[in-house]
Amino acid sequence: MPKNYYDILGISKTANADEIKRAYRKLASEHHPDRGGHSDKFKEINEAYQVLSDSAKRSQYDQYGQTFEQAQRQGGFSGNPFGGFGFEGSFNGASGGFGFEDILSSMFGGEDTQARNRGIDLEMPLRVTFKEAVFGVEKDITIEKKNPCPKCSGSGAEPGSKINTCPKCHGQGQIKTQRRTIFGTVATSSTCDRCEGTGKVPEKPCSECKGIGLKRGRKTIKVSIPAGIDNGQRIRVKGEGEQGYRGSAVGDLYIQIEVLESKDFLRKGFDLYKEERISFPQAALGMTLETATIDGTVKIKIPAGTQSGKVFRISDTGVPYLNRSGRGDMYVTILVHTPEKLTKKQKELLKQFEEE
Ligand SMILES: [Zn+2]
Ligand SMILES: [Zn+2]
Repeated sequence: MPKNYYDILGISKTANADEIKRAYRKLASEHHPDRGGHSDKFKEINEAYQVLSDSAKRSQYDQYGQTFEQAQRQGGFSGNPFGGFGFEGSFNGASGGFGFEDILSSMFGGEDTQARNRGIDLEMPLRVTFKEAVFGVEKDITIEKKNPCPKCSGSGAEPGSKINTCPKCHGQGQIKTQRRTIFGTVATSSTCDRCEGTGKVPEKPCSECKGIGLKRGRKTIKVSIPAGIDNGQRIRVKGEGEQGYRGSAVGDLYIQIEVLESKDFLRKGFDLYKEERISFPQAALGMTLETATIDGTVKIKIPAGTQSGKVFRISDTGVPYLNRSGRGDMYVTILVHTPEKLTKKQKELLKQFEEE
């Protein structure tokens, strides 16, 4: 009787691809035979994952309680729910040409060992200051993750011992089986459980990592944050995720950027905004205003009769565009300050001004 794959992986029937993958990785590493796990349990976990990670197989399983391939192994569905789905003809064997394998792998999708063994992607937040985001910065970051085992350099083999071609799959990483069914002879392939799809087995497993090729540890890397990055953006650092099983492909690291606010500027896209206060006489008579940009100070000519709320644009003093040349602008809003406390003399003068 087919097993409940969702129960095996400990997930709900509505689990998404990520949840399935996470559950699988966790269980597979817990029950890996090289780590003393039971091989039947490990097989069961792999079987559940192979079905649930493949959307076509999963929907067959959800609908019929087994996949088309499983049904074939058992001699077919009694009612053949796949309609007139069947093959005539014979298996071409190793002679090449377009055989059943090709047909089946195109229908069900070949087992992607590369993706299966690839180390997981990591994600980490990184806080940068406003100016660091504007001008770019280089940061040292430390990540704790699975790195290649230093003793065996990730191969899983005890130093000095040989790495052999997997005797079960002959280095293919895949096990192909041919079965006679009511549909004819059918070939299926699955990841080799002896070598986990790597095609190689260490003669003597590394004593440090028990043959997995991985060792958890800290690693510090330099990351270059490009000028113009904004809050919430992600940077991908290729190859700095976790190392895969026994030296197979490494995952990527994603850095989620958090930009601290500035007390001087408000950023919108690549433009910067700020306010400047001037006095009523300055607004009325006009003046030259010195204002700070992110590069230094500039002078703006405030014409006589400037109203409160007037906006001046200073071009090319905004944030550099991300990954291209040029930069945004800075906008200065002028606020005319009305004095709250006046001296006797000032009152006198203002009265005269009003009467004039
Ligand atoms: Zn090792
Ligand atoms: Zn193998």
